[in-house]
Amino acid sequence: GERDAVEEVRPQSPVKPMTATEVKVNVSIPEAAERAAATGADGVGLLRMEHMILSTNKTPEKYIDDHGEDAYIEEIVEGVRNVAEEFYPRPVRVRTLDAPTDEFRQLEGGESEPDEHNPMLGYRGIRRSLDRPDVFVHELEAFRQLYGMGYDNVEIMLPLVNDVEDVLQAKNLMQDAGIDPDKRSWGVMVETPASALRIEEMADAGIDFASFGTNDLTQYTLAVDRNNGQVADRFDELHPAVLELIGRTIETCRENDVATSICGQAGSKPRMVQFLVNEGVSSISANIDAVRDVQHEVKRVEQKLVLDTVR
Ligand code: PEP
Ligand code: MG
Repeated sequence: GERDAVEEVRPQSPVKPMTATEVKVNVSIPEAAERAAATGADGVGLLRMEHMILSTNKTPEKYIDDHGEDAYIEEIVEGVRNVAEEFYPRPVRVRTLDAPTDEFRQLEGGESEPDEHNPMLGYRGIRRSLDRPDVFVHELEAFRQLYGMGYDNVEIMLPLVNDVEDVLQAKNLMQDAGIDPDKRSWGVMVETPASALRIEEMADAGIDFASFGTNDLTQYTLAVDRNNGQVADRFDELHPAVLELIGRTIETCRENDVATSICGQAGSKPRMVQFLVNEGVSSISANIDAVRDVQHEVKRVEQKLVLDTVR
């Protein structure tokens, strides 16, 4: 899948345009931190935690069984620290663990994973985290330690939330783990139609940002499996239904002082950039090799917006 894609950088023009909309970068493997920072991105819009765990070839539970919780926490702290250090003081948005069980099943310990008929609709993201707070708490402890080390540029992002209940439960666990949600920047991914429709309640619960995970948001809005080649031609992140959900969510977030962002693959597409900048999105996060093009596209759209206002 996309999360395994090798992150490459191609030569880029040295000139970074100044834009009102921030342009950030997605990082899937901590080792890519230096190349990601060299793009001049305004921060990391998505740092995936999966690779830090999957690269050990063990499920979280198996890893903890074999090496203990401190070693597990250390894997996460080191992975995040690598990126947070490289970008400091630019913000780094770290997403809590989100891998479907079919990916975990291939690892050591995978035999204990549930065998799901449809893993994409199943036990992943915040659902798994809330169901296994005894495991999730180690991720939160890693965040607590990073804050203790002074990495106040680290932000916490919750994947696959549906509603304010998910958010409040996670917020409680953050507090239990010694993280003050009022002091830290934290938020959600908007990846299900439910989360887009219920964003106002989440804003009331205190989230600082909402980031569109268009890979999943498209999959769930159109009921098109993102990994099924049979229906790949129907996977359209620019479908009017997807754009309407995004547009409405940006509007609600603006009214409620919640920052908005995109961290799905579509953030690298010029037409999506045009749509989002026109809607007033706060930031766009793109893959390493797309950052410079997105910076220039954002600049072009912003300039056109200004001209349209004067005309
Ligand atoms: C997304 O769903 O758009 C996203 C960025 O998350 P992932 O691709 O890891 O599911
Ligand atoms: Mg997703």
